[in-house]
Amino acid sequence: MPSNAVEMIAVEALASSSKGNSYVVTGGGGEALLVDCGLLYRDFLRRLTSIYPEMSPDSLAGILITHSHIDHVQGLEVFLKHYPTVPVFANAMTAEVIVAKYGVAEEAIVCFENGQPFEVGGFEVQAFSIPHDTADPVGYLVRHGSETYFHATDVGTPLDSIGLKLSEANVATLESNHDAVMLKTSNRPPSLIQRIAGPSGHLSNDQAASLVERFAAPCLRQLNLAHLSHDCNTPAIAESTMRAMLAEMHRTDISLRIFK
Ligand SMILES: [Zn+2]
Ligand SMILES: [Zn+2]
Repeated sequence: MPSNAVEMIAVEALASSSKGNSYVVTGGGGEALLVDCGLLYRDFLRRLTSIYPEMSPDSLAGILITHSHIDHVQGLEVFLKHYPTVPVFANAMTAEVIVAKYGVAEEAIVCFENGQPFEVGGFEVQAFSIPHDTADPVGYLVRHGSETYFHATDVGTPLDSIGLKLSEANVATLESNHDAVMLKTSNRPPSLIQRIAGPSGHLSNDQAASLVERFAAPCLRQLNLAHLSHDCNTPAIAESTMRAMLAEMHRTDISLRIFK
């Protein structure tokens, strides 16, 4: 084991799809935070203890909220009933919705400004804007020691501004939501297909690959594909699309995982 292993940032998905999203980021020295709380409480606990048998939810330094869609926040209210001391971090527009719609107490939320770094339990966190069809959605850069974690799901357009954040990452979780052909030929209503493929919807496998092609830096060592559609994608297609791109880039050194 390398001597700096304790400094390595890591992430695991408790859930990653349009049914629920919750990710645990660890710094290597016992510190941990959650990105999104989109699992119902019982499922959250079951998944957390199966992956981290030693971790108690109240040891989480905080919960970072990306946006106010139900699959990212539906577990918050009950989680906070059990663990009221764990702070929730969100920007003001997201906070407004989760208070009004999801029964979260205003006092539980610490508001931040996008782009302004803040400290959460030994991590330095910075939120950045992403295009998606809800109030002020964000992705995150989370720094710990010498390492940086990038997190972006629910991304409508693979903007350069998002790629520039990706270029700082050692570890990244990036949406690879759908296969464009499977989406187009699916049985979904045309309006929904348009929404998902549109500029405020979700990233396709090809869009995710192009973002990685343009912006992955030599320091990127771990890439996780997230928020895969159950009926307009498969883990095998998402993986082979990204693997083909990594091979083309001569970056087969990057470890690739598919979050399900
Ligand atoms: Zn989502
Ligand atoms: Zn969303």
